[in-house]
Amino acid sequence: MKESKTARAITRDGSAMIIAEESSSIVQRACEIHGLSKTMTAALGRALTAASLMGALLKNEGDTLTLQFRGDGPAGNICCVSDWRGNVRGYADNPGAEAAPKSDGKLNVGGVVGDGTMYVIKDIGMDEPYVGLSEIVSGEIAEDVTCYYAKSEQIPTVCALGVRVNKDLSCKAAGGFLVQLLPFPEDLTTDRLEENIKSLPAVSELFMDGLTPEQVIDRVFSGIDYDLLESGEVGYRCTCGRDKYYRALLSLGKEELTGLLDEGAPVETRCDFCGEKYIFERQEIKDMIRDAKR
Ligand SMILES: [Zn+2]
Repeated sequence: MKESKTARAITRDGSAMIIAEESSSIVQRACEIHGLSKTMTAALGRALTAASLMGALLKNEGDTLTLQFRGDGPAGNICCVSDWRGNVRGYADNPGAEAAPKSDGKLNVGGVVGDGTMYVIKDIGMDEPYVGLSEIVSGEIAEDVTCYYAKSEQIPTVCALGVRVNKDLSCKAAGGFLVQLLPFPEDLTTDRLEENIKSLPAVSELFMDGLTPEQVIDRVFSGIDYDLLESGEVGYRCTCGRDKYYRALLSLGKEELTGLLDEGAPVETRCDFCGEKYIFERQEIKDMIRDAKR
């Protein structure tokens, strides 16, 4: 499958930076893995795109970012994890959740997410991960991310996200961008930027029209001198593997493992992010009981 694409740029006067992403293939992959409802395609698709954009802002190889929405809506917990390049994976507790469309006919993402808390967990190689949180404002994801940066990280940010869903529930187009002001921005640039963003059509429309991330950046930075920085390819990627599940089972300890054995092996585990199943035979569980530290 073709990869999704990102591009980034900075204004020549150092006032603002942008990262834009065309994420259709990531969202389509999520549809295939999770069998998402129409509204959940938009909800998880937006969250995946946001996590990917936010992850790509991490500084160092090996850093990861988790974006989590713990709302009281029918979607349940929505969890997305990105690496430092923007490769991303995610799941929702209830992939089939639905909510009646809004009065303007738009998918009611806020209705499936509900009220609650949004978490941003950055694992940047310190002893403890950085955990930031903010209240879910609308549950529409982009607005929540914008508010998170303003309140929790004090970085003036505009996040725009969009997902269009086909009748057959596949992803028609998806993408988004994240604009952040840098310290001591020029008024002229921020005014122009604000005007540009106000006059933009919905971001999903831009990507549906076939614009590349570079072309979207050109629209957002219209009339502003800027330099394109690196561009890249990102995808839906899971990092699970049999040994991860082996270690997780082993860490349960002798007592719980014996319980699993009594319930009847083989023990089947399934990855929430990619749906991959890992099966552990009775003998392996017995070996674990022997090897378990406690
Ligand atoms: Zn997996």
